[in-house]
Amino acid sequence: MPILGCVADDFTGATDLASTLVKEGARTVQLLGVPRPEDPVPEADVIVVALKSRTAPVHEAVAESVAALDWLLAAGCRQAFFKVCSTFDSTDAGNIGPVADALLARLGAGFAPVCPAFPANGRTVYLGHLFVGTALLNESGMENHPLTPMRDANLVRVLGRQTQGGVGLVPFATVAQGAGAIRSAFHAIEDQGRRYAIVDALTEAHLRAIGAACDAVALMVGGSGLAIGLPETWRAAGLLAAHGDAARLPPAAGRAAVVAGSCSRATLGQIGFARDRVPTLTLDPLARPDPAALAGEAIAWIDAQAPDRPLVIAASATPDRVEALQRRLGREAAGQLVERTLAEVADALVARGVRRLVVAGGETAGAVVSRLGVRRLAIGPEIDPGVPWTYAPDIAGGLHLALKSGNFGGRDFFLKAFAMLEEGR
Ligand code: ADP
Repeated sequence: MPILGCVADDFTGATDLASTLVKEGARTVQLLGVPRPEDPVPEADVIVVALKSRTAPVHEAVAESVAALDWLLAAGCRQAFFKVCSTFDSTDAGNIGPVADALLARLGAGFAPVCPAFPANGRTVYLGHLFVGTALLNESGMENHPLTPMRDANLVRVLGRQTQGGVGLVPFATVAQGAGAIRSAFHAIEDQGRRYAIVDALTEAHLRAIGAACDAVALMVGGSGLAIGLPETWRAAGLLAAHGDAARLPPAAGRAAVVAGSCSRATLGQIGFARDRVPTLTLDPLARPDPAALAGEAIAWIDAQAPDRPLVIAASATPDRVEALQRRLGREAAGQLVERTLAEVADALVARGVRRLVVAGGETAGAVVSRLGVRRLAIGPEIDPGVPWTYAPDIAGGLHLALKSGNFGGRDFFLKAFAMLEEGR
């Protein structure tokens, strides 16, 4: 019987969370999209349902998230986790607050801790303020995100604008005192009638203490870091047995390619690095705002490349160009145009024998994976913090997929990912 049921608001975030739990020794299966009632419950300690709800209309995000939770509860999960981005990607309309409100209501619970910290990737929370490396969230590049520009680093305020539920803070000084103090702070904040607490965390040790303090909470809301301490907590409670290496995938073969739709600083850097080393095509949706024409251009280019080299196809652009397209089409339509294009490109790549595919961008990954018809992923070894190789068994011939959240990974991420599979790790 699964212990934890997770609802993730995007596909890359879901793999990040699943990878964290696998590394901590919990058998984890990722399902893509709301499972159907008749779908079998996987033999696992944790089930992560990946949705593409981060930027969906609020009512859709709420309905899908509650449907996923219902399935997870029917599967026997005893605790729930709402996985959001470690940069708290959302707008003032949501979707984090409204979805969390709905999940709490469904669980009949009155309180959830909220913590997006991920120190291994430079995301820390101090006095409720989210930092990315040394920069406040709103000065990290995230203020220019195409869909969810983050212009306020104070998460008590950000979440406060998305919910009527009241948002408190468990400050660093309390977190540093350990699980007992954190648990007491949760109770105090709930007793004050507030529904959420932003929890400070600067280090992995803080996250482990927070995990221990979450042993009895019905719902946690956060990044993958918030899950780091959970398996150990379950082991201590006798809920989780010891397992061998949970991260083995079948051997990889076939062509390699990258599809990039993230416009984050990290992804732009990774594309620049790859461009000097492997064939790289940058699509220009501003010059040609037509998915069929853009995909056609990409496919003609793919067919002209040697089959033995990794290919990179990117639509990613600098903030001024993204803004220009959005001014022309509107924010949502611009995003969808590019996502549709890249999904079609990914489909063409797989049809041409690509069996190792990296997708950069959360929304982009959602679009690609839905188009390919992937319903389930096994989680493999980690390439860079938060991004594992995964394996989709339901694609004919199998498909190795790395779904990279835009801002994750070092400059050499793409080539490092392929080298890792070639070395059979
Ligand atoms: P991240 O993980 O960095 O948030 P996402 O894929 O979630 O990346 O979001 C990036 C969004 O930007 C997607 O909706 C994508 O379609 C859109 N996008 C990509 N390239 C462009 C472009 N050149 N102009 C406008 N929007 C773009």
